Amino acid sequence: MTLPPGSTLGIIGGGQLGRMMSMAAAQLGYRCFIYAPEATGPAADVCAKWVQGDYADEKALAAFATSVDVVTFEFENVDPAPLRRIAENAPVYPPIEALEIGQDRIREKRFAADCNGRTADWAEVTSRADLEAAIAKIGVPAILKTTRFGYDGKGQARIMKPEEADAAWASLGDAGTLILEKMVRFAHEFSLLVARDQQGNITFWDAPENVHKEGILATSRVPADAKVIEQVPAARALARRIADRLDYVGVFAIEFFAGEDGPVFNEMAPRVHNSGHWTIEGALTSQFENHIRAVVGLPLGSTRLSAPEVEMRNLIGADADKWLEWASDPLTHLHLYGKHEARPGRKMGHITRLSGL
Ligand code: AMP
Repeated sequence: MTLPPGSTLGIIGGGQLGRMMSMAAAQLGYRCFIYAPEATGPAADVCAKWVQGDYADEKALAAFATSVDVVTFEFENVDPAPLRRIAENAPVYPPIEALEIGQDRIREKRFAADCNGRTADWAEVTSRADLEAAIAKIGVPAILKTTRFGYDGKGQARIMKPEEADAAWASLGDAGTLILEKMVRFAHEFSLLVARDQQGNITFWDAPENVHKEGILATSRVPADAKVIEQVPAARALARRIADRLDYVGVFAIEFFAGEDGPVFNEMAPRVHNSGHWTIEGALTSQFENHIRAVVGLPLGSTRLSAPEVEMRNLIGADADKWLEWASDPLTHLHLYGKHEARPGRKMGHITRLSGL
């Protein structure tokens, strides 16, 4: 069903992704209501209504759902159970199952393997003895990670030598179920940004090559290195299987390592993604617009590049202090998320540069 312009979208989460989604929705004539636990946030400046409520408050979520025509989310660390209640009052896209899979690294890895994807070798760890056994099984170097609620490199400890197991356990041992992942040897990281509409049509943007610093995305650029481009068809085939299996509607991202023998699935996010921010100016239709299009039942727009080369750089913490410098460069698109406090590691905004035109 296609919702006509003037309809209202409910967005769970009020951060920068909600802000950019709301802006894309407004362009198409839709209004956004935000539901978030905070009193305000980056999306507050650009949405029609901000509803403050806890993510676990089923009653408040259900009431929110009756006030909108369709619900989507920009923040995935939400308990899926209350969201299932929402689905009784309004359609929810993407499917909640995608959220559940993306929230749990073990479930995610099993799902990717079921869809014929390759992942790093891994083992579940729930005790110090498990960690010892996992190191013996998969070897080092490896990374110990929390299975749930990890983001931007948080909840991870590298184990380069078996002697480092104690320190890793000391830092994460009380963080619930853990996963030990073999460190993948790769020269490049990339992601796929995928949009699927309500009819099942799938489209991809050019795959950005991503550079992370301290576990946080630093830059995304297209075109990616030739070694990445070589691996994109196999990665896309996996993404199609995932999207169809979930009957996905909206945009999602999969992060890959360009491994020595092909793409290695790292993780997926059932939402618009930081490595797709370059599409706002760098593609004919942005990830945010295509997400809104899918959710309201419109056909998808073209994902073709609008320039031969595009680079996005995150403004983290104090980087954003140079806003005047970025704003003074006529070839730089400056995006600031309206966050008041520039804490270290906090994503304050991003810049995108188009070149080769
Ligand atoms: P994640 O939160 O799992 O995406 O991890 C953040 C970053 O840590 C990744 O983008 C990689 O740069 C690095 N990393 C995570 N897992 C692995 C792995 N199994 N092998 C090599 N590098 C990894």
